[in-house]
Amino acid sequence: MRYAMKTGPEKTFPGEANGHISRDMRDIKPHRVIPRNDPRVNIVGLSREELTDLLASLGEKPFRAKQLWHWVYHRGETDFSKMTSLGGALRAKLAESCVVDRPEVTREQRSTDGTRKWLLRFPDGNEAETVYIPEDDRGALCVSSQVGCTLTCKFCHTGTQLLVRNLTSAEIVGQFMAARDAYGEWPSPMDETRILSNVVMMGMGEPFYNYDNVAKALKIIMDGEGLALSKRRITLSTSGVVPMIRRCGEELGVKLAISLHAATDEVRNEIMPINKKYPLAELMDACRTYPGLNNARRITFEYVMLKGLNDSEADARALIKLVEGIPCKFNLIPFNPWPGSDYECPPVSHIERFSMLLNDGGYSAPIRMPRGRDILAACGQLRSESERERKSLMKARLAQGIPDEHATTDPSDFP
Ligand code: SF4
Repeated sequence: MRYAMKTGPEKTFPGEANGHISRDMRDIKPHRVIPRNDPRVNIVGLSREELTDLLASLGEKPFRAKQLWHWVYHRGETDFSKMTSLGGALRAKLAESCVVDRPEVTREQRSTDGTRKWLLRFPDGNEAETVYIPEDDRGALCVSSQVGCTLTCKFCHTGTQLLVRNLTSAEIVGQFMAARDAYGEWPSPMDETRILSNVVMMGMGEPFYNYDNVAKALKIIMDGEGLALSKRRITLSTSGVVPMIRRCGEELGVKLAISLHAATDEVRNEIMPINKKYPLAELMDACRTYPGLNNARRITFEYVMLKGLNDSEADARALIKLVEGIPCKFNLIPFNPWPGSDYECPPVSHIERFSMLLNDGGYSAPIRMPRGRDILAACGQLRSESERERKSLMKARLAQGIPDEHATTDPSDFP
C-alpha cells in the first residue's frame, strides 16, 4: 500500500524554482598539456616503490624518492627545476626522462549552489568529469574511476554510455590534484581548514571493476607525507560487486557506500542488472562483515527515489528489515532526470515521509539535496553533456571533412 500524499503547494529543490537555471560556463586554459606521444614517465600515480625503482634506474639512492614524493604530493610542484632539495644533476635528469602531469582541464562549470564541475582530458583524448560539492564545514570531490561504465543501471545516464576504458592510477589521483590546483590548495593543509576535505569514489564507473588502479590511487591520496587525506574521509561507492567488498575493507579501510536503490530483488533486478549476479542476500552478508564496521563507521546505503517504483511505505519497511544488524545510514537521493529517462522523481513531501519512516525504524536517512543540477553535475548525470557535445562537435567536423583526432567511437554509431 502506498502512503498518503500530502496536498498543498509542492516544494521544489534549490535551483529549480520557476524553472530557473543559471550557468556559468567557462573555457579554462589547460595548465599543462603533455603531448600524447611524450615518452617521458609521469611521476604522478606511481607507488612509492615504483618511484624508488625509477630513481634507482637513474642511479639515485632510495631517500630521493621521499624527497620527490614530498615535492609532488605535498607541495604540488610540477617543475623539477624548482625542486631545490634534489640537487641540480638529479633535477636535470628528471626533466629529461619524467614529467609531473595532471589531466588537462578543458572546461569548468560552476553551479549557482557552488558546485564545480571539471571536464578533464587525458593524453589519449578520452575525457571524464570530476565534481566538487561544497558543504558548510567541508567539501567532497566526486572522482571517476572509468570512462563510461559497463553496468547499465536504468536510472543512471552514465550507464547509457559504453565503457571506453579504465582510468589509470595517475588519472584518478590527477583528478584530485587538478581540483587542488583549481583551489590553490598547496601545500597539503595538515589541519581541518581544507577545502577539499573528502573524496567520494562515486563519479563515472564502478570502482571495483578497476580495483587495482583505484586502490593504488587511494593509497597515494591517503599517504600522510603527500596528499594526506585520512581514510575516514574517503568513501568508495559500489553498485554491489560482492567479492571485492571484503578485500577493499582489509586493504584500504575506507568507508563503504552501496548503491542500493531497492529493497527487493524483484525491483533491484529491474533497475540494476548487477543484482542478478549478486543478489541482495549476498550483498547484505558482505556488508555485515565489512572490516572495521561499527556505529562510528557505518555503511551508507544510497537510495535514489523513483516515483511509483521504490518509494512506497512497504519499500521503507522492507529496507528496515533488509539492513537489520548492519550499522548503517541511508542517503535518499531525489532522482535527477535526464533526457530519455523512464523515471520521475517523487514529490519532496513524499520523500520526506519516506525519510521519516526510516528514522522511525532507527536509521538516519537524510535527503541529499540535488547539487549542481544546473550544470548536470548531480548524481547519475556525469559525462552526459560533455559526451553529447563531443558527438555534435565531431559530427560537425566530419560534415566538413575534418577528422576528429580524439575520436574513440565509430562515427556511424552516432544517432
Ligand atoms: S550508477 Fe554507477 S555503476 Fe550504475 S551505471 Fe551509473 S556509473 Fe555505472
